[in-house]
Amino acid sequence: FKGFAMKKLNETGWVEKEVPECGPLDAIIKPTCVSPCTSDIHTVWEGAIGDRKDMILGHEAVGEVVEVGKLVQNFKPGDKVIVPAITPDWDDEAAQRGFPSQTMEPLGGWKFSNFKDGVFGERFHVNLADANLAHMPDGLSDEGACMLVDMWSTGMMGSENADIPLGGSVLVIGIGAVGLSAIAGAKLLGAGRLFAAGTRPISVKVAKKYGATDIINYKEGPIDEQVMELTDGAGVDSVVIAGGNLENTWKEAISSAKAGGTVSNVNYLSGADNVLIPRVEWGCGMSNINIKNGLCPGGRVRMERLADLALCGRQDPELLVTHKFEGLDKIEDALYLMKEKPKDLIKPVVML
Ligand code: NDP
Ligand code: ZN
Repeated sequence: FKGFAMKKLNETGWVEKEVPECGPLDAIIKPTCVSPCTSDIHTVWEGAIGDRKDMILGHEAVGEVVEVGKLVQNFKPGDKVIVPAITPDWDDEAAQRGFPSQTMEPLGGWKFSNFKDGVFGERFHVNLADANLAHMPDGLSDEGACMLVDMWSTGMMGSENADIPLGGSVLVIGIGAVGLSAIAGAKLLGAGRLFAAGTRPISVKVAKKYGATDIINYKEGPIDEQVMELTDGAGVDSVVIAGGNLENTWKEAISSAKAGGTVSNVNYLSGADNVLIPRVEWGCGMSNINIKNGLCPGGRVRMERLADLALCGRQDPELLVTHKFEGLDKIEDALYLMKEKPKDLIKPVVML
């Protein structure tokens, strides 16, 4: 079958592959809607996880089951499914310790377009189908569901990790699809004042719809200085980092947090070897400002819960979709659009 791949660092192209073998607990899926992720851009053009050869890209998909292993109980060919970007090995010890995204090795729950072929092809393989697929509910569109598998799951985790007190103040740095999902999550988790740092006008619009109360333009001065001015020097209880860079963002995040606050990172860091934590702003290491981080949560229950948030009208995942393509061949255009990040883009989807 045909798939769109990372041929090597800085090079993409179409490849032909054999349909993978379906193990007894596994499934083979035919995607019906896929979306490129900024992480695919870090992977191909920044070498953030090292070189990869002829690996099919993509980890955001919904689709239809074409084959299941003989021990799979809850899914059968023809079922419409939501496929989480992260498909953990649920029997691994890291899952038992509560960190399923880190099974087998650090980031080991992230298989598609990391160390196994991803979803940008006519077929793809899912391990542990009963644990790593969710039935597509009535009332959710393919493109809406496609926004849950990584964007909502990651961004909302960023806010869950940020220990937001009821009515607490929150700063979300970066308002691409991940930061916007963090805003949506922060609102649901009880944020009071909710600052959003970013500039793309389409993102600013959605940030307000998802619950941002104040927009900060990071191009007009350091984010922490703007936060301090807007809060009369108080700072915020929780910060989510969902964009930015290694030169400024960590300093801005730590300096915006109150003593005892939490900085939660979901940004995929690339471009330098070290993260610089500002010593004085971090209270010489004694400020009680906690730093947390995590990889997108995967698995079936997570998808079902996120789908319920959408179905119950708590937030609308389709607000993230700005561009819609038709046909497998358009995956290439969608990925390059994600690389260019035009002003009117949040997320493109490709309908197959
Ligand atoms: P986008 O590139 O769409 O959004 C990035 C945001 O950061 C934009 O709002 C941009 O602003 C803003 N930004 C850029 N420069 C700065 C700066 N100097 N200071 C503050 N903000 C800045 O990314 P996505 O939302 O798609 O993804 C965000 C990150 O999350 C990526 O690194 C991605 O790889 C990662 N990710 C992590 C996952 C995980 O499991 N932890 C899973 C999925 C993604 P502007 O509005 O001006 O463009
Ligand atoms: Zn991703």
